[in-house]
Amino acid sequence: MVLQRELSRRDFLKLSAGSAAGLGLLLSGFPRFEELLAAAVDEVPVIWLQAGTCTGCSVAVLNSLSPRIQNILVDEVVPGKHVSLRYHATIMAGAGDVAMKALEETAAKKGGYVLIVEGAIPTKDNGVYCQIGEKDGNGITALQHATNLGQNALAVIALGTCAVGGGIPAAAPNPTGSVSVGTVFADAGIKTPVINLPGCPPHPDWFVGTVASVLIGGLSSVQVDEQGRPVAFYGKLIHDNCPRRGYFDLGKFAKTLSEPYCLYELGCKGPVTHADCPIRLWNSGTNWCVGANAPCIGCCEPTFPDAVSPFRQPVAIYGVTPPSWLPPMEEEKGGFSAGAAAGLGAIGGVVAGAAAGAVAASRLAKRQADKED
Ligand code: SF4
Ligand code: SF4
Repeated sequence: MVLQRELSRRDFLKLSAGSAAGLGLLLSGFPRFEELLAAAVDEVPVIWLQAGTCTGCSVAVLNSLSPRIQNILVDEVVPGKHVSLRYHATIMAGAGDVAMKALEETAAKKGGYVLIVEGAIPTKDNGVYCQIGEKDGNGITALQHATNLGQNALAVIALGTCAVGGGIPAAAPNPTGSVSVGTVFADAGIKTPVINLPGCPPHPDWFVGTVASVLIGGLSSVQVDEQGRPVAFYGKLIHDNCPRRGYFDLGKFAKTLSEPYCLYELGCKGPVTHADCPIRLWNSGTNWCVGANAPCIGCCEPTFPDAVSPFRQPVAIYGVTPPSWLPPMEEEKGGFSAGAAAGLGAIGGVVAGAAAGAVAASRLAKRQADKED
């Protein structure tokens, strides 16, 4: 859904309720969280920890226009539930001891706060390469913060690809030994549930929609995939919703960035990247990467950037799924058009799409084999 206008609080509540229903989530197996949520706290304190990050995730999310971020993090977004941002190093007014006191007081409410982690966690040399604040003159590492705050949090949101998979700080040769939040928790035996919201940066809607759903329906209202990502936002491949998909299925590939055809041969990672960028669009519905003639670089995959590098080389595809909603494309004299199969209805379209995908896959395999010869 793309929001085109500023919302009143009333509008937002209605929208959030609809979004929660639409998300249809399920994150089971965390009875502790459900018990706590049933107690219906009036206020949900939030600690936003910025570890190995460029701050881009904060900038992206804080630029949410409709609803504005203060509707989410300050206002009473759900009747009886108020989110209170207690600590965020970049935007909080307090600094030094005052800021650390706010952090400590919130952390003392064990099991009563939500932790948002932005950025990867350096672990080499006891995590000395990222320190946030100090106590008694000694720096506190992000690793210590993530471990101490994570084990006592109600729930954790890993925000951005660096927090979800290590991202750019963890790219080879990874001199700081940076890892994801999930890896830190696994190594420390921390069982606190983590919702992963990858993206470099993540789309504001992915964060806002997830927070609203948790507030309205609890953590159990968020259906996640095997990697902890909300299915509502990361359930489909970029490739399956791409407007250029018809050209891929026909084997019509752009040779330069200015051509309107499929960008696969110019390195597009849409076939291996899960996100809804083609239908959600960025900057309040303005455009998205492929729409601006830039191949998707796979920034939402937890294995970004190493597994999708070099960005300008075609990625290996091991199977082609049919497009989600687009009709297959047919070649005509002098151009391309949506195929006649579009008139066969949804089922016919999917079958035709799958067939076209198989054709594209075999063409790609032949091209790759030709190149290797
Ligand atoms: S390879 Fe990229 S440009 Fe081509 S259809 Fe897939 S997502 Fe779109
Ligand atoms: S299209 Fe690809 S590179 Fe662009 S924001 Fe989406 S996942 Fe990232």
